[in-house]
Amino acid sequence: MKTYAELSPSPRTIMTPGPVEVDPRVLRAMSFPILGQFDPEFTGLMNDTMEMLRGLFRTGNKQAYPVDGTSRSGIEAALGSLIVPGEKVLIPIYGRFGHLLHEIAERCGADVTTIEKPWGTVFDPEEIIGSIRKERPSLVAVVHGETSTGCMQPLEEIGRICREQDALLAVDAVATIGGVPVETDRWQMDIVIGGTQKCLSVPSGMAPITYNDRAERKIMSRKRIERGLKPREETAAMREIPAIRSNYLDLAQLQDYWSPDRLNHHTEMTSMLYGLREGLRILHQEGLEARFARHRLHERALMAGIAAMGLSLFGDPSCKLPVVTCVEIPDGVDGESVREMLLQRFGIEIASSFGPLKGRIWRIGTMGYSASTRNVLLSLGALEAVLIRHGVQVRQGEGVQAALEIYEEPEYQS
Ligand SMILES: *Cc1c(COP(=O)(O)O)cnc(C)c1O
Repeated sequence: MKTYAELSPSPRTIMTPGPVEVDPRVLRAMSFPILGQFDPEFTGLMNDTMEMLRGLFRTGNKQAYPVDGTSRSGIEAALGSLIVPGEKVLIPIYGRFGHLLHEIAERCGADVTTIEKPWGTVFDPEEIIGSIRKERPSLVAVVHGETSTGCMQPLEEIGRICREQDALLAVDAVATIGGVPVETDRWQMDIVIGGTQKCLSVPSGMAPITYNDRAERKIMSRKRIERGLKPREETAAMREIPAIRSNYLDLAQLQDYWSPDRLNHHTEMTSMLYGLREGLRILHQEGLEARFARHRLHERALMAGIAAMGLSLFGDPSCKLPVVTCVEIPDGVDGESVREMLLQRFGIEIASSFGPLKGRIWRIGTMGYSASTRNVLLSLGALEAVLIRHGVQVRQGEGVQAALEIYEEPEYQS
Protein backbone atom coordinates (compact mmCIF):
# COMPACT_ATOMS: atom_id res chain seq x y z
CA MET A 1 0.00 0.00 0.00
CA LYS A 2 1.16 3.51 -0.73
CA THR A 3 2.35 5.35 2.36
CA TYR A 4 2.11 9.07 2.83
CA ALA A 5 4.65 11.30 4.53
CA GLU A 6 3.93 12.48 8.03
CA LEU A 7 2.23 15.87 8.06
CA SER A 8 4.86 18.50 8.60
CA PRO A 9 3.93 21.93 7.20
CA SER A 10 6.91 24.27 6.77
CA PRO A 11 7.10 27.25 9.09
CA ARG A 12 6.01 30.31 7.15
CA THR A 13 5.85 34.04 7.60
CA ILE A 14 2.45 34.80 6.14
CA MET A 15 2.03 38.40 4.97
CA THR A 16 -1.04 37.96 2.78
CA PRO A 17 -4.56 39.27 3.35
CA GLY A 18 -5.51 35.85 4.66
CA PRO A 19 -5.21 33.22 5.77
CA VAL A 20 -2.69 34.61 8.26
CA GLU A 21 -0.57 33.09 11.01
CA VAL A 22 -2.44 31.76 14.02
CA ASP A 23 -1.49 32.33 17.66
CA PRO A 24 -0.19 29.04 19.14
CA ARG A 25 -2.79 29.45 21.90
CA VAL A 26 -5.52 29.08 19.28
CA LEU A 27 -3.88 26.00 17.75
CA ARG A 28 -3.62 24.47 21.20
CA ALA A 29 -7.27 25.21 21.95
CA MET A 30 -8.22 23.40 18.75
CA SER A 31 -6.56 20.19 19.88
CA PHE A 32 -8.71 19.64 23.01
CA PRO A 33 -11.17 16.72 23.31
CA ILE A 34 -14.59 16.88 21.70
CA LEU A 35 -17.69 17.73 23.73
CA GLY A 36 -21.24 16.83 22.68
CA GLN A 37 -23.17 19.67 21.04
CA PHE A 38 -25.81 19.83 23.81
CA ASP A 39 -23.38 19.22 26.69
CA PRO A 40 -23.87 22.19 29.03
CA GLU A 41 -20.12 22.63 29.09
CA PHE A 42 -20.16 23.08 25.32
CA THR A 43 -23.24 25.30 25.16
CA GLY A 44 -21.51 27.41 27.81
CA LEU A 45 -18.59 27.87 25.39
CA MET A 46 -21.07 28.80 22.64
CA ASN A 47 -22.55 31.47 24.91
CA ASP A 48 -19.11 32.85 25.84
CA THR A 49 -18.37 33.14 22.13
CA MET A 50 -21.59 35.07 21.47
CA GLU A 51 -20.78 37.47 24.29
CA MET A 52 -17.25 38.10 23.06
CA LEU A 53 -18.53 38.58 19.49
CA ARG A 54 -20.86 41.37 20.69
CA GLY A 55 -17.82 43.15 22.11
CA LEU A 56 -15.89 42.66 18.88
CA PHE A 57 -18.74 43.99 16.71
CA ARG A 58 -19.40 46.77 19.24
CA THR A 59 -23.07 45.95 19.40
CA GLY A 60 -25.88 45.35 21.82
CA ASN A 61 -27.52 43.01 19.27
CA LYS A 62 -28.90 39.82 20.69
CA GLN A 63 -27.88 37.98 17.54
CA ALA A 64 -24.11 37.50 17.27
CA TYR A 65 -22.80 34.04 16.43
CA PRO A 66 -20.58 32.30 13.89
CA VAL A 67 -21.91 30.72 10.71
CA ASP A 68 -19.96 27.52 9.98
CA GLY A 69 -18.08 27.81 6.72
CA THR A 70 -15.57 30.41 5.54
CA SER A 71 -16.43 34.13 5.47
CA ARG A 72 -18.19 33.69 2.16
CA SER A 73 -20.74 31.44 3.87
CA GLY A 74 -21.61 34.29 6.23
CA ILE A 75 -22.12 36.63 3.28
CA GLU A 76 -24.26 34.07 1.51
CA ALA A 77 -26.28 33.36 4.68
CA ALA A 78 -26.90 37.08 5.20
CA LEU A 79 -27.94 37.86 1.64
CA GLY A 80 -29.86 34.63 1.15
CA SER A 81 -31.80 35.14 4.37
CA LEU A 82 -32.59 38.81 3.75
CA ILE A 83 -33.29 38.95 0.01
CA VAL A 84 -36.75 37.84 -1.09
CA PRO A 85 -36.56 37.03 -4.83
CA GLY A 86 -37.54 40.05 -6.90
CA GLU A 87 -36.51 42.61 -4.27
CA LYS A 88 -34.35 45.53 -5.24
CA VAL A 89 -30.76 45.49 -3.95
CA LEU A 90 -28.16 48.24 -4.36
CA ILE A 91 -24.49 47.26 -4.42
CA PRO A 92 -21.69 49.83 -4.54
CA ILE A 93 -18.66 48.06 -6.05
CA TYR A 94 -15.02 49.18 -5.76
CA GLY A 95 -13.19 45.83 -6.03
CA ARG A 96 -13.47 42.06 -6.23
CA PHE A 97 -15.55 41.49 -3.12
CA GLY A 98 -18.17 44.02 -4.22
CA HIS A 99 -18.52 41.91 -7.36
CA LEU A 100 -18.94 38.87 -5.10
CA LEU A 101 -21.86 40.59 -3.32
CA HIS A 102 -23.41 41.22 -6.73
CA GLU A 103 -22.90 37.60 -7.75
CA ILE A 104 -24.50 36.24 -4.58
CA ALA A 105 -27.40 38.74 -4.57
CA GLU A 106 -28.18 37.82 -8.17
CA ARG A 107 -28.28 34.13 -7.30
CA CYS A 108 -30.71 35.02 -4.49
CA GLY A 109 -33.04 36.34 -7.18
CA ALA A 110 -32.54 40.01 -6.37
CA ASP A 111 -33.18 42.81 -8.83
CA VAL A 112 -29.65 44.22 -8.49
CA THR A 113 -28.51 47.75 -9.24
CA THR A 114 -24.77 48.38 -9.00
CA ILE A 115 -22.68 51.53 -8.94
CA GLU A 116 -18.95 51.23 -9.54
CA LYS A 117 -15.68 52.98 -8.78
CA PRO A 118 -12.30 52.28 -10.38
CA TRP A 119 -10.18 49.82 -8.34
CA GLY A 120 -7.94 51.75 -5.94
CA THR A 121 -10.61 54.32 -5.00
CA VAL A 122 -13.83 54.34 -2.95
CA PHE A 123 -17.15 56.19 -3.06
CA ASP A 124 -17.80 59.61 -1.66
CA PRO A 125 -20.57 58.66 0.83
CA GLU A 126 -22.80 61.24 -0.88
CA GLU A 127 -22.70 59.16 -4.09
CA ILE A 128 -24.00 56.10 -2.25
CA ILE A 129 -26.60 58.18 -0.41
CA GLY A 130 -27.78 59.70 -3.71
CA SER A 131 -28.20 56.22 -5.22
CA ILE A 132 -30.13 54.96 -2.19
CA ARG A 133 -32.53 57.90 -2.47
CA LYS A 134 -32.94 57.37 -6.20
CA GLU A 135 -33.20 53.57 -6.30
CA ARG A 136 -35.15 53.00 -3.04
CA PRO A 137 -33.70 49.47 -2.58
CA SER A 138 -34.85 46.99 0.10
CA LEU A 139 -31.23 46.19 0.84
CA VAL A 140 -27.86 47.89 0.39
CA ALA A 141 -24.84 45.56 0.48
CA VAL A 142 -21.33 46.99 0.64
CA VAL A 143 -17.77 45.94 1.48
CA HIS A 144 -16.04 47.77 4.33
CA GLY A 145 -12.42 46.80 3.55
CA GLU A 146 -11.58 45.64 0.00
CA THR A 147 -8.64 43.30 0.30
CA SER A 148 -8.36 43.16 -3.50
CA THR A 149 -7.45 46.87 -3.77
CA GLY A 150 -6.35 47.80 -0.23
CA CYS A 151 -9.10 50.42 0.09
CA MET A 152 -11.65 51.05 2.84
CA GLN A 153 -15.09 52.56 2.31
CA PRO A 154 -16.23 55.08 4.98
CA LEU A 155 -19.64 53.87 6.19
CA GLU A 156 -20.55 56.28 9.01
CA GLU A 157 -23.46 57.98 7.26
CA ILE A 158 -24.83 55.19 5.11
CA GLY A 159 -26.77 53.38 7.84
CA ARG A 160 -28.78 56.44 8.82
CA ILE A 161 -29.93 57.02 5.25
CA CYS A 162 -30.83 53.34 4.84
CA ARG A 163 -33.02 53.62 7.93
CA GLU A 164 -34.62 56.81 6.64
CA GLN A 165 -35.36 55.05 3.33
CA ASP A 166 -36.48 51.82 5.00
CA ALA A 167 -33.66 49.78 3.46
CA LEU A 168 -31.51 47.26 5.32
CA LEU A 169 -27.73 47.68 5.29
CA ALA A 170 -25.51 44.58 5.00
CA VAL A 171 -21.76 45.05 5.39
CA ASP A 172 -18.89 42.71 4.50
CA ALA A 173 -16.41 43.46 7.29
CA VAL A 174 -14.45 40.25 6.74
CA ALA A 175 -11.12 42.03 6.24
CA THR A 176 -11.58 44.74 8.85
CA ILE A 177 -13.08 42.95 11.86
CA GLY A 178 -10.54 42.80 14.68
CA GLY A 179 -8.01 45.03 12.92
CA VAL A 180 -9.89 48.26 12.26
CA PRO A 181 -12.89 49.74 14.15
CA VAL A 182 -16.20 48.26 12.97
CA GLU A 183 -18.97 50.15 14.78
CA THR A 184 -22.07 48.06 14.19
CA ASP A 185 -24.44 50.07 16.40
CA ARG A 186 -22.99 53.54 15.98
CA TRP A 187 -22.98 53.28 12.17
CA GLN A 188 -26.45 51.72 12.23
CA MET A 189 -25.47 48.66 10.20
CA ASP A 190 -28.24 46.04 10.19
CA ILE A 191 -26.14 42.97 9.49
CA VAL A 192 -22.36 42.70 9.58
CA ILE A 193 -20.30 39.73 8.43
CA GLY A 194 -16.78 39.04 9.70
CA GLY A 195 -14.24 36.30 9.05
CA THR A 196 -11.87 34.28 11.19
CA GLN A 197 -8.83 33.91 8.96
CA LYS A 198 -7.90 37.61 8.66
CA CYS A 199 -7.43 40.00 11.59
CA LEU A 200 -8.88 37.53 14.12
CA SER A 201 -6.02 35.12 13.35
CA VAL A 202 -8.09 31.98 13.71
CA PRO A 203 -7.97 29.40 10.90
CA SER A 204 -10.38 29.82 8.02
CA GLY A 205 -13.69 28.07 8.61
CA MET A 206 -16.17 30.31 10.41
CA ALA A 207 -17.95 33.56 9.66
CA PRO A 208 -18.98 35.52 12.75
CA ILE A 209 -22.04 37.64 12.05
CA THR A 210 -24.32 39.98 13.94
CA TYR A 211 -27.70 41.51 13.10
CA ASN A 212 -30.21 43.76 14.78
CA ASP A 213 -33.97 43.56 15.31
CA ARG A 214 -34.74 45.13 11.93
CA ALA A 215 -32.86 42.36 10.12
CA GLU A 216 -34.17 39.72 12.50
CA ARG A 217 -37.80 40.66 11.78
CA LYS A 218 -37.22 40.16 8.08
CA ILE A 219 -35.39 36.87 8.61
CA MET A 220 -37.97 35.47 11.02
CA SER A 221 -40.82 36.41 8.68
CA ARG A 222 -39.38 33.75 6.35
CA LYS A 223 -38.84 31.11 8.99
CA ARG A 224 -39.63 27.46 8.34
CA ILE A 225 -39.27 24.68 10.85
CA GLU A 226 -37.87 21.51 9.30
CA ARG A 227 -40.40 18.78 8.65
CA GLY A 228 -38.61 16.33 10.87
CA LEU A 229 -38.64 18.73 13.83
CA LYS A 230 -42.08 20.27 13.47
CA PRO A 231 -44.74 19.20 16.01
CA ARG A 232 -47.68 19.86 13.59
CA GLU A 233 -48.38 21.18 10.10
CA GLU A 234 -47.36 24.77 9.28
CA THR A 235 -50.15 27.24 9.23
CA ALA A 236 -51.03 28.78 5.87
CA ALA A 237 -50.02 32.23 7.14
CA MET A 238 -46.42 31.10 7.43
CA ARG A 239 -46.21 30.56 3.68
CA GLU A 240 -46.78 34.18 2.67
CA ILE A 241 -43.15 35.15 2.05
CA PRO A 242 -40.98 32.68 0.13
CA ALA A 243 -38.81 30.58 2.45
CA ILE A 244 -35.08 31.10 2.62
CA ARG A 245 -33.80 28.86 -0.17
CA SER A 246 -30.77 27.46 1.57
CA ASN A 247 -31.29 25.11 4.44
CA TYR A 248 -27.69 25.15 5.68
CA LEU A 249 -27.31 28.94 5.46
CA ASP A 250 -30.75 29.78 6.87
CA LEU A 251 -30.21 32.40 9.59
CA ALA A 252 -33.71 31.78 10.98
CA GLN A 253 -32.75 28.19 11.80
CA LEU A 254 -29.23 29.10 12.83
CA GLN A 255 -30.39 31.66 15.36
CA ASP A 256 -32.74 29.08 16.90
CA TYR A 257 -29.83 26.69 17.22
CA TRP A 258 -27.81 29.43 18.95
CA SER A 259 -30.76 30.41 21.17
CA PRO A 260 -31.45 28.82 24.59
CA ASP A 261 -33.93 26.50 22.77
CA ARG A 262 -30.97 24.92 20.89
CA LEU A 263 -33.32 23.76 18.14
CA ASN A 264 -31.17 21.26 16.29
CA HIS A 265 -29.79 22.33 12.91
CA HIS A 266 -26.26 21.25 11.98
CA THR A 267 -23.74 19.91 14.50
CA GLU A 268 -21.61 22.80 15.69
CA MET A 269 -17.94 22.61 14.67
CA THR A 270 -16.44 21.74 18.01
CA SER A 271 -12.75 22.37 17.34
CA MET A 272 -13.36 25.49 15.28
CA LEU A 273 -15.46 26.90 18.10
CA TYR A 274 -12.66 26.22 20.59
CA GLY A 275 -10.33 28.09 18.23
CA LEU A 276 -12.65 31.05 17.72
CA ARG A 277 -13.34 31.35 21.43
CA GLU A 278 -9.60 31.40 22.18
CA GLY A 279 -8.98 33.91 19.38
CA LEU A 280 -11.64 36.18 20.86
CA ARG A 281 -10.23 35.75 24.35
CA ILE A 282 -6.82 36.84 23.05
CA LEU A 283 -8.40 39.81 21.28
CA HIS A 284 -10.22 41.01 24.38
CA GLN A 285 -7.12 40.49 26.54
CA GLU A 286 -5.16 42.71 24.16
CA GLY A 287 -8.05 45.20 24.04
CA LEU A 288 -9.71 46.42 20.86
CA GLU A 289 -8.14 49.88 20.91
CA ALA A 290 -4.64 48.48 21.54
CA ARG A 291 -5.19 46.01 18.73
CA PHE A 292 -6.24 48.71 16.28
CA ALA A 293 -3.18 50.77 17.32
CA ARG A 294 -0.93 47.74 16.75
CA HIS A 295 -2.32 47.32 13.23
CA ARG A 296 -1.74 51.01 12.48
CA LEU A 297 1.83 50.84 13.79
CA HIS A 298 2.85 47.91 11.59
CA GLU A 299 1.13 49.47 8.61
CA ARG A 300 3.12 52.68 9.13
CA ALA A 301 6.41 50.79 9.47
CA LEU A 302 5.71 48.71 6.38
CA MET A 303 4.69 51.72 4.30
CA ALA A 304 7.74 53.68 5.44
CA GLY A 305 9.99 50.77 4.47
CA ILE A 306 8.38 50.32 1.06
CA ALA A 307 8.66 54.03 0.27
CA ALA A 308 12.28 54.26 1.50
CA MET A 309 13.22 51.39 -0.81
CA GLY A 310 11.96 53.48 -3.70
CA LEU A 311 8.81 51.47 -4.47
CA SER A 312 5.37 53.01 -5.05
CA LEU A 313 2.20 52.26 -3.16
CA PHE A 314 -0.97 51.58 -5.13
CA GLY A 315 -4.32 53.24 -4.45
CA ASP A 316 -5.71 56.49 -3.12
CA PRO A 317 -3.89 57.03 0.22
CA SER A 318 -6.89 58.89 1.72
CA CYS A 319 -8.95 55.66 1.76
CA LYS A 320 -6.19 53.14 2.46
CA LEU A 321 -7.21 49.98 4.26
CA PRO A 322 -4.81 49.86 7.24
CA VAL A 323 -4.37 46.08 7.18
CA VAL A 324 -3.46 45.64 3.50
CA THR A 325 -0.69 47.54 1.73
CA CYS A 326 -0.62 47.36 -2.06
CA VAL A 327 2.71 47.84 -3.79
CA GLU A 328 3.10 48.55 -7.49
CA ILE A 329 5.23 45.95 -9.25
CA PRO A 330 8.11 47.87 -10.88
CA ASP A 331 8.06 47.97 -14.70
CA GLY A 332 9.57 44.92 -16.35
CA VAL A 333 9.55 42.82 -13.18
CA ASP A 334 7.79 39.45 -13.08
CA GLY A 335 5.71 39.78 -9.93
CA GLU A 336 5.12 36.05 -9.66
CA SER A 337 8.82 35.28 -9.84
CA VAL A 338 9.44 37.68 -6.93
CA ARG A 339 6.69 36.06 -4.87
CA GLU A 340 8.02 32.61 -5.63
CA MET A 341 11.56 33.51 -4.54
CA LEU A 342 10.27 35.10 -1.33
CA LEU A 343 8.48 31.87 -0.51
CA GLN A 344 11.19 29.43 -1.62
CA ARG A 345 14.20 31.21 -0.14
CA PHE A 346 12.76 33.08 2.82
CA GLY A 347 9.54 31.23 3.66
CA ILE A 348 7.65 34.53 3.32
CA GLU A 349 4.34 34.70 1.52
CA ILE A 350 2.86 37.86 0.03
CA ALA A 351 -0.13 38.02 -2.32
CA SER A 352 -0.79 38.99 -5.91
CA SER A 353 -4.12 40.49 -6.98
CA PHE A 354 -7.12 39.82 -9.20
CA GLY A 355 -8.92 41.14 -12.25
CA PRO A 356 -7.65 44.50 -13.51
CA LEU A 357 -4.82 44.49 -10.93
CA LYS A 358 -3.45 41.05 -11.81
CA GLY A 359 0.29 41.36 -12.45
CA ARG A 360 0.23 45.05 -11.47
CA ILE A 361 0.45 44.96 -7.69
CA TRP A 362 1.56 42.88 -4.73
CA ARG A 363 -0.61 42.92 -1.66
CA ILE A 364 1.03 42.71 1.75
CA GLY A 365 -1.18 42.00 4.74
CA THR A 366 -0.44 43.09 8.30
CA MET A 367 -3.25 41.23 10.01
CA GLY A 368 -3.71 39.73 13.46
CA TYR A 369 -0.86 37.54 14.69
CA SER A 370 1.07 38.26 11.48
CA ALA A 371 1.11 41.99 12.28
CA SER A 372 4.39 42.02 14.20
CA THR A 373 7.66 43.93 14.20
CA ARG A 374 9.56 40.78 13.38
CA ASN A 375 7.39 39.95 10.37
CA VAL A 376 7.49 43.48 8.95
CA LEU A 377 11.27 43.79 9.29
CA LEU A 378 11.90 40.32 7.86
CA SER A 379 9.57 40.98 4.94
CA LEU A 380 11.19 44.30 4.06
CA GLY A 381 14.69 42.81 4.24
CA ALA A 382 13.73 39.80 2.16
CA LEU A 383 11.82 41.83 -0.42
CA GLU A 384 14.83 44.10 -0.90
CA ALA A 385 17.14 41.13 -1.40
CA VAL A 386 14.78 39.45 -3.87
CA LEU A 387 14.25 42.66 -5.85
CA ILE A 388 18.00 43.13 -6.15
CA ARG A 389 18.19 39.54 -7.48
CA HIS A 390 15.61 40.60 -10.06
CA GLY A 391 17.71 43.56 -11.20
CA VAL A 392 15.58 46.25 -9.59
CA GLN A 393 17.37 49.42 -8.53
CA VAL A 394 16.20 49.71 -4.91
CA ARG A 395 17.75 52.05 -2.35
CA GLN A 396 19.77 49.39 -0.62
CA GLY A 397 19.48 49.10 3.14
CA GLU A 398 16.99 51.93 3.48
CA GLY A 399 13.75 49.98 3.75
CA VAL A 400 14.52 48.16 6.97
CA GLN A 401 16.11 51.29 8.43
CA ALA A 402 13.01 53.37 7.75
CA ALA A 403 10.84 50.78 9.48
CA LEU A 404 13.23 50.65 12.43
CA GLU A 405 12.91 54.44 12.72
CA ILE A 406 9.17 54.04 13.18
CA TYR A 407 9.56 51.31 15.76
CA GLU A 408 12.07 53.43 17.69
CA GLU A 409 9.72 56.40 18.00
CA PRO A 410 9.35 57.22 21.71
CA GLU A 411 5.61 56.48 21.81
CA TYR A 412 6.27 52.82 20.92
CA GLN A 413 8.95 52.28 23.57
CA SER A 414 7.69 50.48 26.61
C1 LIG B 1 -11.29 37.24 2.36
C2 LIG B 1 -12.51 37.99 2.08
C3 LIG B 1 -13.73 37.34 1.81
C4 LIG B 1 -13.87 35.84 1.64
O1 LIG B 1 -13.43 35.13 2.70
P1 LIG B 1 -13.32 33.53 2.71
O2 LIG B 1 -12.96 33.27 4.14
O3 LIG B 1 -12.27 33.17 1.75
O4 LIG B 1 -14.64 32.97 2.37
C5 LIG B 1 -14.84 38.13 1.63
N1 LIG B 1 -14.77 39.48 1.67
C6 LIG B 1 -13.61 40.12 1.92
C7 LIG B 1 -13.60 41.61 1.95
C8 LIG B 1 -12.45 39.40 2.13
O5 LIG B 1 -11.31 40.05 2.35
